[in-house]
Amino acid sequence: MKWVACELHTHTVHSDGQLSVGGLVNRAKSLGLEMIALTDHNTNSGLAELDNQRLSVSFPVIRGIEWTTYFGHVLVIGSKKYVDWRDVVPHNIDEKLTMVHDAGGLAGVAHPYALGDPVCCSCHWEFYLKDWGLADFIEIWSGSLPQLVMRNKKAIKKWTSLLDKEIYLTAISGRDWHGDEDDTKPFGVTYLMLDEMVDVTEAAKDALKNHRAYVTVGPTVSLSASSNGKNTGIGGTLLRGETTFRIAVGGEHRKEIWRNFDLVPQKNRAGWRWRQGAVKRRFCWVRKRNDYHGARGLGMGSHGASRHHARRGMRTCGDKSDYF
Ligand SMILES: [Zn+2]
Ligand SMILES: [Zn+2]
Repeated sequence: MKWVACELHTHTVHSDGQLSVGGLVNRAKSLGLEMIALTDHNTNSGLAELDNQRLSVSFPVIRGIEWTTYFGHVLVIGSKKYVDWRDVVPHNIDEKLTMVHDAGGLAGVAHPYALGDPVCCSCHWEFYLKDWGLADFIEIWSGSLPQLVMRNKKAIKKWTSLLDKEIYLTAISGRDWHGDEDDTKPFGVTYLMLDEMVDVTEAAKDALKNHRAYVTVGPTVSLSASSNGKNTGIGGTLLRGETTFRIAVGGEHRKEIWRNFDLVPQKNRAGWRWRQGAVKRRFCWVRKRNDYHGARGLGMGSHGASRHHARRGMRTCGDKSDYF
């Protein structure tokens, strides 16, 4: 298992992007990404280019599509059968996401709080999703400078409110990369903890399904928790009991973006206990609320979130990193 830097939301000339699939792959490599998902609007014709030019031999590409409808956008990853998106409307979205699952795919909510018409046609999420558990993941970050954008703060709030209801969506970052963005601006990356699988799409689906994901604009982040002598990381489960969370920030990747980076913990919030760890750049917060514990670290670097169920043990649900 290893953490891999991914961009999970891209467009090419097969829809409204600026680059060919090959061009996008080359750009991804030059930016230090290790994997991308191809998610063109309402078409998977880019996958033919991918296969014909054998591009995925040298660079892992996840097979996907972005359903682009009048009521919001849905990222579909790794569906083994074509699921017709043309008749999706607000009231049948639950059935449509079930069809994606039946076809072996995962479905995620893209940029839920993006401005809608006339700024961005149909980008705002207006589906009447009755069972949010049918969504596998949600973009809590979208676009460049994602940590500063109001729509993303709303998405984080939505994600957190779902966690509070025991609905565990995996939080991801989607640059919605069209190939003409300013690469000097910090952008988010989703790290997925991948199992050694031959098929990268299956490996990515496995990570997304099991919450082995975090987002960052720069440094790598590790979140671990220990309880009753058992340790686990992002996506893992712990037994009940006093739990210690540790968040560490690493520095192997994309150093050029955060050269002057340093951890500056934010002020403590009411009801939160903050403890500086013995190791520099290691700290933890422990919060108790109702029937779960959460841990969250904030800084010029990182924060993570975990949840504890009184009855079912703890699951870590993902974390994210801010770069203020
Ligand atoms: Zn979109
Ligand atoms: Zn898009």
